Amino acid sequence: MYVFVEDLRGEGVERVLDRVSGYGVSGITVGAVHHASRDVTPHGLSRLTIRHDGAHFTPPPELFDGLRLAPVPGYADAFDGLREACAKRSMKLHGWTVFLRNATLGTEHPDVTVRDCFGDRGSLTDLCPAHPDVRDYAVALARAVARLGVDSVVAESLHFRPLKPQRSFVPLGPMDAYLFALCFCDYCMRRATDLGVNAEVAREECARIVGGVFDGDPPAQGEVTRAALTAYAGPDVVAYARARSETVTTLVSEVASAVADEGSKLVFIDSTGAVKGYTDGLPTPGLAAHDAWQLGVDLVALGDLVPAFGVLAYARDAARVADDVGAYLRSVGKDREVRAVLRPGHPDSDSVDRLVAKARGAKAAGALAVDFYAYGLVPHPVLDRIPAALSL
Ligand SMILES: [Zn+2]
Repeated sequence: MYVFVEDLRGEGVERVLDRVSGYGVSGITVGAVHHASRDVTPHGLSRLTIRHDGAHFTPPPELFDGLRLAPVPGYADAFDGLREACAKRSMKLHGWTVFLRNATLGTEHPDVTVRDCFGDRGSLTDLCPAHPDVRDYAVALARAVARLGVDSVVAESLHFRPLKPQRSFVPLGPMDAYLFALCFCDYCMRRATDLGVNAEVAREECARIVGGVFDGDPPAQGEVTRAALTAYAGPDVVAYARARSETVTTLVSEVASAVADEGSKLVFIDSTGAVKGYTDGLPTPGLAAHDAWQLGVDLVALGDLVPAFGVLAYARDAARVADDVGAYLRSVGKDREVRAVLRPGHPDSDSVDRLVAKARGAKAAGALAVDFYAYGLVPHPVLDRIPAALSL
């Protein structure tokens, strides 16, 4: 079960762990580093919880050199005693870590954030995985979380991210939004160039197409696929987009090695399932494993480097959950650990039967485990559905 530090602080570690273990849950994945957010928390100490993008522990200063993360005031000791409290109940403890989504670091250091095809840095939340300082930071952060003594480091946002403007009255199609989200910072362009891609042509094409829509051209129709993107933006753009996976694969490889060095293991979560189904549990048609390349995630390559994967199965339909898990396993390799992350309530699950059907579908498709997202976001009666889903 995913648990926020604010949940533990609000209700108390002992009470939360007793409740969670009472559901039959065998481990908790606690937010060691989260992103800023403002969330409805139905049974929290505060019913509206403000989260900050900082560390919920004190990062060892000797690990960081350049970018460094400060502890969130009041939460520097959130992991103290947690391992022991879990062990007492035979529960595992995992460190949930948001890597490259961090508005605090991005605002302090805009030069390490993504730069769009027009040369603008408008997404200060998004640190670029190609920037050497960001790569050093990710490795240091992974080590720091592993040193908390966690059974695994669960990596979120360790890849490129989609564009999320808060307002847009321009009807950008999915492909326009995708082109607008591509990073053309010096490091991304250099890496693509080293792989034989004409990065400058790709950038010009993106700026021409997106700029055209801004000037009144009709937006692109249809979902992003390699074929549609080739037809819409040309081969240089597609080659550029595909080159991003080398940036991500090498970074994840370094992070996975650092975590293993520290005696823990990496669980990699790509956000594709959330991009598709987060809002309403009705994911767009392509399976997450097939569309992960869009964020620079090459699951076939990562399957050789990372021991475990979390699939964000944010969907109402049990068959869809099973299809997503199956496609993931075919990509990363049948012998890899694949966990299905389910939302036990709104907007994915409207009944205990639906949750049970999804857990059953995930297991039948080969998932080693199901995880539930997330303790503090879900009302108690919804959490009460979990035992049935675990007693299959
Ligand atoms: Zn970049």
